[in-house]
Amino acid sequence: MAVPPAAPEIDAFTRPFWDAAGRGVLLIRRCLACARAHHYPREFCPYCWSEDVDWETASGRAVLYTWSVVHRNDLPPFDARVPYTAAVVDLDEGPRMMTELVGGAEGTPVIGMALEVAFRTEGDGIAIPLFRPAVRRR
Ligand SMILES: [Zn+2]
Repeated sequence: MAVPPAAPEIDAFTRPFWDAAGRGVLLIRRCLACARAHHYPREFCPYCWSEDVDWETASGRAVLYTWSVVHRNDLPPFDARVPYTAAVVDLDEGPRMMTELVGGAEGTPVIGMALEVAFRTEGDGIAIPLFRPAVRRR
């Protein structure tokens, strides 16, 4: 049996997240009981267990928490992408998110550097949120 592609499993609960990503919008979840935001999306608040949680449009701004260049990954589709930069970023809204850092032409990533969300549409039409160095407008 062929190894299935590493596409996200989309169900009725996570559908709004992927639909928004397709429009270039990053969604997070915010608890209406304790006001804290979280990611990945959950049906209850991971801090106070309230189920009074709703979607919120994130700013798309983040800072780099840590990163690592992956030179070897035998699992499709990642095997065709090496080397790529796996990253953990802190969203402005608070949640920490695992993602991929793109825009390597900017040079070596620096912890704490400002990032902004970008989206890459995969072959199956699913838009995946990634992060790249923020464009500073002054
Ligand atoms: Zn809460």
